[in-house]
This record gives sequence, structure tokens and C-alpha cells, in this order.
Amino acid sequence: MKALIAGAGIGGLATGIALRKAGLELKLFERSREMREIGAGLMIWPNGTRALQALGVEVRAMTIDSLFFRNWRGRLLMEPPLRAISERYGSNIAVVHRADLQSALVKSLGREVLNLGADVSGFEDAAAQVVVKLRDGTSDGGDLLIGADGLRSTVRRQLLADGDPVSSLDSASTGSGAARNSSPSTLRTTAFTGPA
Ligand SMILES: Cc1cc2nc3c(=O)[nH]c(=O)nc-3n(C[C@H](O)[C@H](O)[C@H](O)COP(=O)(O)OP(=O)(O)OC[C@H]3O[C@@H](n4cnc5c(N)ncnc54)[C@H](O)[C@@H]3O)c2cc1C
Repeated sequence: MKALIAGAGIGGLATGIALRKAGLELKLFERSREMREIGAGLMIWPNGTRALQALGVEVRAMTIDSLFFRNWRGRLLMEPPLRAISERYGSNIAVVHRADLQSALVKSLGREVLNLGADVSGFEDAAAQVVVKLRDGTSDGGDLLIGADGLRSTVRRQLLADGDPVSSLDSASTGSGAARNSSPSTLRTTAFTGPA
């Protein structure tokens, strides 16, 4: 069975690894011409760290033992009980750099199934297979298609005809912002949130 995946973000890459483990043939279509390893820190909660363990993906990560949410003036808003959360959900909470997570996923998946510069414009649900159409006029067929092409997904729009995503918290209109600081020496992370 051959699976087609639109989008090679964290979701598409992780899904690809899982499907290949299940024995499927794969092809990923990513519109970026290169896998740019950009971004900042990500906090991965126990459901995520457990999934990465199950996939056998090893990421350079920092396991933290305390986390503080503060407003922009530094006032403590919340300190989630990390140890209790980890015990309850059976895995650690980790802080990683987005680039480290992406390169670990790509390494585990293998670059040979990645088609870069492949901008999905839509799909055709034919009787025996699904055909992915690319903006350069080419196409490819498979048994199933996964839309992992992000918030403004082309696949989701065609499948559900649900239009643009609706933001419930528009940072441009509220002036809100967030920043995070993790210290390897203290294993503490502080998330600051509030007006930019
Ligand atoms: C500032 C910020 C901080 C965050 N912090 C955290 C955090 O601490 N912890 C956490 O768990 N999550 C965090 N998130 C959320 C997390 O980043 C997202 O949930 C995650 O990246 C979504 O992954 P995805 O693969 O679904 O989508 P995306 O990362 O958006 O990837 C979609 C991919 O599809 C490609 N694509 C799009 N359209 C097409 C097309 N037509 N054809 C082909 N390819 C296409 C894009 O180029 C992209 O590579 C944060 C998000 C932001 C913005």
C-alpha cells in the first residue's frame, strides 16, 4: 500500500515514520525547496515525548524539572506540577530546538521519500486510487492521502470546503506576545506572556 503525504512539517514527517513502520510505501510532498531548519524552542508534552519514543526518534532534548508561566511584568501566573504530569501520563516533558526535532525526524525518515519543491494544488479521488496534483502540472497516485500541510491546508480546504482558518486570538489585534527562556544549568523554563 502506498501513502501520499502533503507537507513535511513535524506532523507529516512523524506520520511518515509511523506509516513506514507499519509497512507502507511512502511519498512526501513538501512545497519548500529545502528543509530549512529554522525556529526556536519547543516544549514537548508527555503525549509528544511518548510518541517520539514509540517512533524510535532520538532528539537532542532537555528534560526540565520546573516551568513557570509569567506575565510580561514577571508576575507568576502558573507553575504546572511537572513531576505529577509526567507520572500521570507516563513520559517526560522536554524542551527542544525546533531545528533539532526536524533534523531528527528527517534522519529517521530518510531523505529519499521527501519530494521538495512539490507544491500540492489539490487531489482527485479516483475509484481505485487518490491522485495528488502538483502546481507544476505533474501528479502522483497512491492508496491514501494525508493532508499534513499545515494551518492553511490545501488538502483540508478541498476535502471539507471550510475556508480560511478562523483565529480566536489574533496577536496583531490583541497586541499579545509570548517568549520562552530555558536554562540548561537550572533545568527551569519560564514562559512570558502578555502585551508585546
Ligand atoms: C510561536 C509558536 C510556538 C509554538 N510552540 C509550541 C510548543 O512549545 N510545543 C508544541 O507542541 N507546539 C508548539 N507550537 C505548535 C507547533 O509548532 C505546530 O503544532 C506544529 O508545527 C504543526 O505541525 P504541522 O506539521 O501540522 O504543520 P506545519 O509545521 O505548518 O507544516 C506544514 C508543512 O506543509 C508544507 N505545506 C503547506 N502547504 C503545502 C502544499 N500546498 N503543498 C506541499 N507542502 C505544503 C509547509 O511548507 C510545511 O512544511 C508552536 C507554534 C508557534 C507558531
